[in-house]
Amino acid sequence: MIIKNGLVYYKGKIVKRDIEIEGNKIVKIGKNLEGESYNAEKKLILPGLVNTHTHLAMTLLRGYADDLPLNEWLEKYIWPVESKLKGKDVYYGSLLGIIEMIKSGTTCFNDMYFFMDKTANAVMESGIRGVLNHGCIELFDSEKGEREIKESLKIMKICEKNERTSFMFGPHSPYTCSKGFLMKIKDLANKYQKYIHIHVSETKNEVENIEKEYKMKPMEYLKDFLDKNVLIAHAVHLTKSEIKILKEKNVKISHNPVSNLKLSSGIAPIPELLKNDILVSLGTDGTASNNSLNVFEDLKIMALIHKLKDPKNLDANESLKIATENGGKALNLKIGKIEEGYLADLIFIDLKSASLNPEHNLISNVVYSMDTESIKDVMIDGKFVMQNRKILTLDEEKIIEKTDKIAKELVNR
Ligand SMILES: [Zn+2]
Repeated sequence: MIIKNGLVYYKGKIVKRDIEIEGNKIVKIGKNLEGESYNAEKKLILPGLVNTHTHLAMTLLRGYADDLPLNEWLEKYIWPVESKLKGKDVYYGSLLGIIEMIKSGTTCFNDMYFFMDKTANAVMESGIRGVLNHGCIELFDSEKGEREIKESLKIMKICEKNERTSFMFGPHSPYTCSKGFLMKIKDLANKYQKYIHIHVSETKNEVENIEKEYKMKPMEYLKDFLDKNVLIAHAVHLTKSEIKILKEKNVKISHNPVSNLKLSSGIAPIPELLKNDILVSLGTDGTASNNSLNVFEDLKIMALIHKLKDPKNLDANESLKIATENGGKALNLKIGKIEEGYLADLIFIDLKSASLNPEHNLISNVVYSMDTESIKDVMIDGKFVMQNRKILTLDEEKIIEKTDKIAKELVNR
């Protein structure tokens, strides 16, 4: 198929090009390509956004407990409900999240949670792309650790069965997993050639506890665990010497600006990380702490909060790259770019939309003013999953009704 007459985000610029797609891949980009065509006139075509840190089924807890300190929020509200979760809840919570993501232009997400076989089903049915990890909470108990590894390997096998699901190991954090367990995960990741996704240095409190216990900063404590295949979510509190370690080890970062603001966790030193050529991607975190899965919202807020000291920080081009191309690199997938050889994950934006006009600088408009209702069509893996804002793969109305029922029943369970 040839996508004709659109404006395409290509090599960092917006240019008029045709895109040839064969199967699930972009095979050619050029002018006046011929063949069976899809007319994208008056459309802006971007690679789908990549959300590199989510807990998708937490959509069921959206708005359940807000405006609280992290500890109270977790201990009094989130954990007690999560302990009652069943596979079916995770399946519907995942579907709700997927609807929200597709409609706001996200085509791939990296998810750490439980019952990930159910999230895998939701991914397969909806047509979205997902990187799934069983969130391992070892709690310094080696028997529990073994069970978590067993479940992880089970999810790895499930993910390998489908082209749109891939797998990462997901040890939750250094405060819920022992160093020995993390090193075991590292060995497995090397053995199976997988990436690792982990939360580190989200709050000051967490950093202080690690310092008290081990007399080291978190990244120093994790030094021999860290590697180029490790993706760290948050990394809010970092010293200069820790940034040096991240650079030396080629560690990748998932920046979660909205969640960090909402829980008063702080602002990660992203301009500093970028100056050091550390790969920064963008994530929403779960909807109990965001409360949205709209990555365009995080994109704008990210670009703004890092301008507190310097308006030149994170310009529109760099910000968009963080939400697309860098996301692909963070997840080790050929996504986030419209180039030959990349997977055909594309979003089609209506250029007639008021929020994108006038067209002085479309990249700037996409980052700072675009309303996501302007995203009309979404293609994932070479197939349209949304056209004219209608999701083709799922019954949106029915799923929303069902999840509302499940969510209300869950908190009273
Ligand atoms: Zn998280």
